[in-house]
Amino acid sequence: MARQEILDRIQKYVRPYCITNGKGFQLNNFDPGDTSGLVLDKGEASELLQRGTEWLAEEQDMLYAQDRWSLLLVFQAMDAAGKDGTIKHVMSGVNPQGCQVFSFKQPSSEDLDHDFLWRYSKCLPERGRIGIFNRSYYEEVLVVRVHREILSRQKLPAPLVGAHIWDQRLSDIAHFEDYLTRQGTVILKFFLHVSRNEQKKRFMERLDKPDKHWKFSPSDVHERKFWDDYMYAFEEAIRATASEHAPWYVVPADNKWFTRLLVAAAIVEAVEKLDLTYPTIDPEKRKELQTIRAALRREK
Ligand code: ATP
Ligand code: MG
Repeated sequence: MARQEILDRIQKYVRPYCITNGKGFQLNNFDPGDTSGLVLDKGEASELLQRGTEWLAEEQDMLYAQDRWSLLLVFQAMDAAGKDGTIKHVMSGVNPQGCQVFSFKQPSSEDLDHDFLWRYSKCLPERGRIGIFNRSYYEEVLVVRVHREILSRQKLPAPLVGAHIWDQRLSDIAHFEDYLTRQGTVILKFFLHVSRNEQKKRFMERLDKPDKHWKFSPSDVHERKFWDDYMYAFEEAIRATASEHAPWYVVPADNKWFTRLLVAAAIVEAVEKLDLTYPTIDPEKRKELQTIRAALRREK
């Protein structure tokens, strides 16, 4: 199949999950168990994924060589939705030198002494690089929104904490993303949408298998009590920040193979749009290289 034909198919698969305008967005319209009608066995899915990751590796090489654009991939999800596994599989083929993953946990006291975007800004990808945020500044309108007591630890001056604080934060985030895209950062945001039932199944599995115990934290189960609050916060975040230049992908996450394929496809599609090529050099420089080559050849 020709490259363009594959791209057209990728586009067709990705489009229903890509939100470029958040107005009226409703999470209810998205099914975590959806696989877009695809029925693939493990082997077929991993073969397709491998093709995607190889493609991505080629694109990343050009991104790095050009040193102009950067790519920021934001991953948000409830626990056990598969963020870690997706990042691991989708990025498996790319050169580690051009790619960095940052996992954001609870903020430090130094972080809390700054504005809420500070710690994330420090980790933004350089030109030519891919930066992955495993959790991100969106936590500031998710976990912080669900658990108000976290906000009180953020040391904001009291008059600035009003009824509109979440809308204000969301608007700050949208502007921050506008700014970054105008600086050459391509931003893709993935919400791995797992169902409450599937999460329970995965937690049970972690409890049943000793080699998965390390992944289990009792507080994860506690957070399930706030499921609806989280879903509301996600919906609000997507509504306020989905845009043409920084889209959200609502990725069904009850089937891991589909999650990975869709994420890989979305990244390939977005990077392809940049029309990346290797930098060319002017004739004079090329001549110089030829002279050097000839000299090298003569060397004993
Ligand atoms: P995993 O469990 O797969 O190792 P994780 O991302 O869930 O990865 P944890 O250490 O379990 O990592 O959890 C990190 C916790 O930090 C999450 O509960 C998250 O909500 C919280 N967190 C992240 N950013 C913030 C923030 N800005 N303020 C408060 N809590 C935050
Ligand atoms: Mg966790």
